[in-house]
Amino acid sequence: MGSGVSFKYKNLFIPVIILSSGVLFTGCGESQRSPRPISGQTRPSYTVSIEELASKLGLSVRNSGNSYFELGDAKNTVRLFTDDGGRAYVNGTSIGSVGTVKKVSSKTYVSELLVPQIRGHLISQPVQLPNLGPYEVPRVYGSGTVVIDPGHGGNDPGAQSVLGYWEKDVNLKIAYKLVSYLREAGVDVVMTRESDVYPTLEARAALANRENADLFVSIHCDSNGDRMHRGFTVYRARSASSDSKKAGRLIEKYLSNAGIPSKGLRSADYKVLVQTKGPAVLVECGFMSNYDEAALLMDPWYQNKIARAIADGILEYL
Ligand SMILES: [Zn+2]
Repeated sequence: MGSGVSFKYKNLFIPVIILSSGVLFTGCGESQRSPRPISGQTRPSYTVSIEELASKLGLSVRNSGNSYFELGDAKNTVRLFTDDGGRAYVNGTSIGSVGTVKKVSSKTYVSELLVPQIRGHLISQPVQLPNLGPYEVPRVYGSGTVVIDPGHGGNDPGAQSVLGYWEKDVNLKIAYKLVSYLREAGVDVVMTRESDVYPTLEARAALANRENADLFVSIHCDSNGDRMHRGFTVYRARSASSDSKKAGRLIEKYLSNAGIPSKGLRSADYKVLVQTKGPAVLVECGFMSNYDEAALLMDPWYQNKIARAIADGILEYL
């Protein structure tokens, strides 16, 4: 057999849902198609460039990518996802589809109707992000090592979000935030990957075994053909030890307490869970197939919230 991604992922226990369209959705483990490039030859009528849009709204362009733009001022943040069906968000709330998007050479053009549409949602008061409060450094734990495993990576992008970005990238971002909370608390942490590379599932579990890890936590994001699905799920292997179950319950509790919708603690024989000898759990942080959650998962503030909740669960477990 080749070492292709699809083969590796056949070893994962993932429920497969076949939609009437014939498209396969297999949770986050599916290796999906590449993002479709946006193309267009002529500048269409009734459009404005992203820069013109920003200037008409009195905002500046903070961030511009191939399919993601962020505009803002001191009081507002506007996020535009310009993939097919991409949405516009003003201060974290979806205001609907971005609509027509055309690219001419390096410039992106959107409908000029977005100007009044966005303007109607801009606020003149400073945006108050929910205050997480200072992070209280809990007691320092023994010599225990925790292995954090950002799912997928490299040639295996994981699932693609409805907003176009790939699971492997969000997994890594959340994992980094989680690791920094844990290190702040004095926990020894080893990551299975620190960049966009793909360690095999066997290598990830082997690392945890070699480190004799007190806990192995794999970080993933979910996908489902039904775009209504949202919330996090914590998994442990079917024959998991009581320690794995305890760690899973605690992580579930803290994520729930953080106000993130819970799909509970479930069992599934993911390879990394089965092959890790010590306690091991896998967290699906949310559904990238749901527009709202896909946008939240891209938001550093939300990533921090998830990371902190998982860290709190791990710290109580240790
Ligand atoms: Zn995944």
